[in-house]
Amino acid sequence: MALNNDILMKLIRREAEKYYSSDPGHDWLHAERVYRMCMKIFEKEGGDPQVLLATALLHDAGVQHELEYGVDHSEKSVEIAGEILSRIGFPRGKVRMVLDAIRVHRFRKGIKAVSIESKILQDADRLDAIGAVGVARAFSRGGRTGTPMYSQQKSVSSTVDHFHEKLLKLKDTLNTETARRIASERHAFMETFLSRFLKEVEGKE
Ligand code: FE
Repeated sequence: MALNNDILMKLIRREAEKYYSSDPGHDWLHAERVYRMCMKIFEKEGGDPQVLLATALLHDAGVQHELEYGVDHSEKSVEIAGEILSRIGFPRGKVRMVLDAIRVHRFRKGIKAVSIESKILQDADRLDAIGAVGVARAFSRGGRTGTPMYSQQKSVSSTVDHFHEKLLKLKDTLNTETARRIASERHAFMETFLSRFLKEVEGKE
């Protein structure tokens, strides 16, 4: 029987959800958002939708392992994804495409995505780090790591700094035209948010 996307989604969810972190920035809801964004980008940019589905839903399955042991989560995600895909009978010829895309998705690695599926995953993952969701994720990350929201001392690193060091740069790292278009409104929203936030911090109306 051919696996349609609904069945595939249910099978992967049943196997993968338990691996996901309870960290709100990298939980199963993040994987679902990345999946929806991958599909949106796919409509314009193409690629293999089945590969994108599996890639998006499994790409951060190793994050909990990283939080506990400090090892790179993309390798752990590749390992978990490989096991799950073989268990659920995912088309063998596509497994490598999924694993390659997961391997290169990580921002800090700075590896260039080659296949269209890996480009789309990177873009969808980065789009989830900006805009209103990006703001929510940034402060939730700050809460988890005990980082102050903002700081008026140069020596203290804050979540506002994280916007300048990473999140405001993401729009210039995207692979596809479709993602760049979606990023522009999300980017503008973050700038609006930050200027209002700092205004309120200063005690202005
Ligand atoms: Fe992710």
